[in-house]
Parts: sequence; structure tokens; C-alpha cells
Amino acid sequence: MADAFDFDLFVIGGGSGGVRAARVAASEYDAKVGLAEDDRYGGTCVIRGCVPKKLMVFASEYSVMAEDAQSYGWDMKAGPFNWHGFKTKLNDELDRLEGVYRKLLDGSGVERFDQRARIRDAHTVELADGTTKTAKHILVATGGAPVRPDLPNADLGIVSDDIFNLEQLPKSILIIGGGYIACEFACILNGLGVEVALHYRGAQILRGFDDEARGLVAESMRESGIDLVMGSNIVEMALAGEQEDGPRPTASDAAMGASARDAEVLRKQSDGAAAGQSGPIWVKTSNGGERVYDMVLFATGRAPSTKDMGLEDAGVGIGRRGEIEVDAYSQTAVPSIYAIGDVTNRVNLTPVAIREGMAFVKTVFGGEPTPVDHDLIASAIFTQPEMGTVGMSEEEAREAEPVEIYCTSFKPMQTAFAGKPNRVLMKLVVSKETRVVLGCHIVAPNAGELIQMVGIAVKAGLTKEQFDATCAVHPTMSEELVTMRNPMRTA
Ligand code: NDP
Repeated sequence: MADAFDFDLFVIGGGSGGVRAARVAASEYDAKVGLAEDDRYGGTCVIRGCVPKKLMVFASEYSVMAEDAQSYGWDMKAGPFNWHGFKTKLNDELDRLEGVYRKLLDGSGVERFDQRARIRDAHTVELADGTTKTAKHILVATGGAPVRPDLPNADLGIVSDDIFNLEQLPKSILIIGGGYIACEFACILNGLGVEVALHYRGAQILRGFDDEARGLVAESMRESGIDLVMGSNIVEMALAGEQEDGPRPTASDAAMGASARDAEVLRKQSDGAAAGQSGPIWVKTSNGGERVYDMVLFATGRAPSTKDMGLEDAGVGIGRRGEIEVDAYSQTAVPSIYAIGDVTNRVNLTPVAIREGMAFVKTVFGGEPTPVDHDLIASAIFTQPEMGTVGMSEEEAREAEPVEIYCTSFKPMQTAFAGKPNRVLMKLVVSKETRVVLGCHIVAPNAGELIQMVGIAVKAGLTKEQFDATCAVHPTMSEELVTMRNPMRTA
């Protein structure tokens, strides 16, 4: 096609959303497509998010599995975790996946530019090497990046991108934040043998999710040994020994004499240096606590990557959080410029970015205006146990209409047999009037897998009676979702 322009479509950003849109436009609609990426192909999800995180979740679960196996008659014990060995294999896998992404683009006929691109005007993109490319349509899919709080010395802390590149795991870590990333990495690192403290400024982690479900996740995290502190935030940090009033006592110092403390600080400093990190970090929290940690992780949210992109000058609207403002078709205020994925800060999940990319291609190249459906998206938080969730929380639903709550929490067979206190939760939020299941919340091993299936039923608008008409699969944890006869409460 490409008439007066170099390209029909130029995509900025080679993550899940951008690659999918580029590929489909080129291979299914015969569009001439260019794509620029200045980092590794695959974006946050593949390179520094979902994929390496999930592999770390798997790695972190083996120590507990080995422990439980003894109750099932196996004579086995997990030895020490080999971070270096795991990381090497992880990097090989990420290299392989990045290669797949490059091949998919090349195979679809998309022209790749492995460099940064910014927008010069409504139809022109400027590449880092100074060349410009014109395009009938431009799609911005630059994603987002972690943000640190505005705090002196905040750069002493790491962000989630850095975890996968650590030379060595720390012995202790303070995680700041109570969202997806904070909770997932608290569980992962705890499972890998790191001493983990998580401080969250609010009253309960995972704000916005169902209260009962997040309560159980918090309880399980504490049971597994994570020091979960609510109503606390970081107020000061410095390299240990360099804080304003000189060395200060640490929590572990209370149990140590002064000379033992000095020796411990020195040991931690040398550990820090060996890890290629800045060294142990002294931290003061808003609840008055002071302690030295080997590492501090800021899991304090992500911001859309819109800086220095030339967007405002081109006339694209930017929102309060730095996001690109788009309509239901992902179109910006400049008709030829569209944006999808985390850079638009709508629902920041990989499958959503992919759907937004597909809807964009259908709208622009298929001649079928397709709005993006952001309703009833199921998601999972890969804590241990996982939380799977779709639809309204009890708190949201009872504000909207009268509801019945069907809920059960119990010790699942597998870990109960191993003598573990672990509990799971199965919960349905049901409209009293229409009987439609408005929300489902599961806290259990593999809840992510379970909620994918329940998501179909909830998205289809099925009623509690239709759930009940489905025969149970026995013995499973999720059979409870079709056997809860009486509401636990109405609200
Ligand atoms: P979230 O927005 O989920 O959580 C950020 C956390 O940091 C919140 O608890 C927030 O507190 C806290 N916070 C923000 N600013 C500060 C501050 N200045 N000081 C102290 N605490 C602060 O962000 P994440 O980075 O965890 O995740 C980003 C997004 O990535 C998620 O929203 C999700 O869409 C996606 N994601 C999805 C995953 C999955 O599907 N499993 C996994 C990982 C990420 P408060 O609640 O008070 O605002």
C-alpha cells in the first residue's frame, strides 16, 4: 500500500502489544510496516516481567515442595539454591524468546530498526541515527518503567528490572510497596531463602482487591516467614555507616554486642560489594524503625514511558500520570497516531496490550471499527499461594447492588496431609436480584490457572444456579465453586 509514505504503519516499541500489531498488520493486511525498539525485543513481559518472574516463582517453590515431599514418603531435602546456575539458564531462555520475537517480525515482513525512535510530527518518526521515516499511521507501544519514590538516596535501592541481573541474591531485603510486584517478589525471594521484610504504607496489601482474599494472602505470607509491616513507609536511607548521625543500632543489633554489630556491618558491606551492589543500606521507616538491609527493592508502581518522545509537540494529549490519552479505539488526539498497552495506563496487563493491538489493526486496516473491551478481565497475582480474581470484589459489588456472598476457606488435601497450616479461599459474589455471578476470588495454589476457566463463566454472565448445575470434579479444591449451597452472608 504505502502510497506517499515510507510505511503504512510505524510501530514504536517491540513489546507484546507492538509486535503483535506490527505482525498482524503486515501478514494479514499486507501493510508495509516498520518497527523501532531500542532495547530487547519482547518488552517488559518477556525480558523483565511476567516470563522471568514466573520462572523465578517456579524456582522458589521447590524448597517447600521438597519439604512437603518428606510427608509423602520421599527421603529428600532441598540443598542450597544456586542463583548463578539458575540465572544462566534464565538468560538463555530469554535470549531464545527474544530470538523468537525477532523471527516473527522478520517472517511477517516487518522492517526492524534496532534503535530509539521519537515522533517528529503526525506522520514522521525520527530515529536515533538521525534518519526519518514517514508513515500513514504511527502506533506508540512503549510500555512503562518502574518508578522510585522521591526520596534522597533512592537510587541506592533497586527496582524490579534489576532483580534478574543480580550477581548474587542478598541475605536480607526490604521491599517497599504493597502491589502486585511487591507481593510477588516478597514470596519469590522468601522461597529462595532471602530474609524478606515488606513495608506497605496502607492498612492492607493489594489495595483494590477483595478484602477477604487479600487478607488470606497476607496471612499466608506471614506464615511463610515474611515480615509484613502495614502502615509503614521508608523515610530515610543511606549506605550503612554513612547515615547522618553515624552508625545507628539495627534491629538485629539488639541481639548482638557492639563489636559483633560492627563485624556484622563489615560482613554485610563485603557481601554487598561482592554482589556488585552498592552495599548494605541503612533504612529508617515511618514507624520509627531503623535497620540495615543488604538490599532495598522499590516496588512502588510503574509510569508510562512517554518522556522525550515528541508527543506533546505533535499534539498528542498526555494525562496526569504521564499516560497517552486515547479513545475506545486507541486513537490519540492526532488522528494518525494511536497508542496501546501500558503507555496508555488503562489495564496494564500483557494480554490486554495484545488485544488492544489486535483491535487497532482491525479498526485501521480491517475497516471494522473495534473498541477494546476492558470489562471483566481475569488476572492472577503470583504470590504463594496465588490469587486469581475476576469481576467485582465484595466491597465494590455491595456498593452497586444487594449481593449474596458464597465463600469457603479450608485446608486443602495436599498440604493438610503434610501437616501444613495453609488455607485456600473460594469466593463467589452473586447479585441477589439477577443471580449473576459478579465476581470470583480464589486464593490457592494455581489460582491463576483456575481463574482463567472461571473467567469464561463470569464473562458469559452465568448465574449462581448455572454454576450449581455443573457437576463437581472430585476431589479438587475448585469443586467448592459449584457446591456452595448457602450464602455465608448478604450485603
Ligand atoms: P502497583 O500499582 O500494583 O503497586 C504499587 C504499590 O506501591 C502500591 O502498593 C502503592 O501504594 C505503593 N506506592 C506507590 N508510591 C509509593 C511511595 N511513594 N511510597 C511507598 N509506596 C508507594 O504497581 P506494581 O509496580 O506492583 O505493578 C505495576 C503494574 O504491573 C500492576 O498494576 C499490574 O497492572 C502489572 N503487573 C501485573 C502482574 C500480574 O498480572 N501478575 C505482575 C506484576 C505487575 P498504594 O496502594 O497506597 O497506592
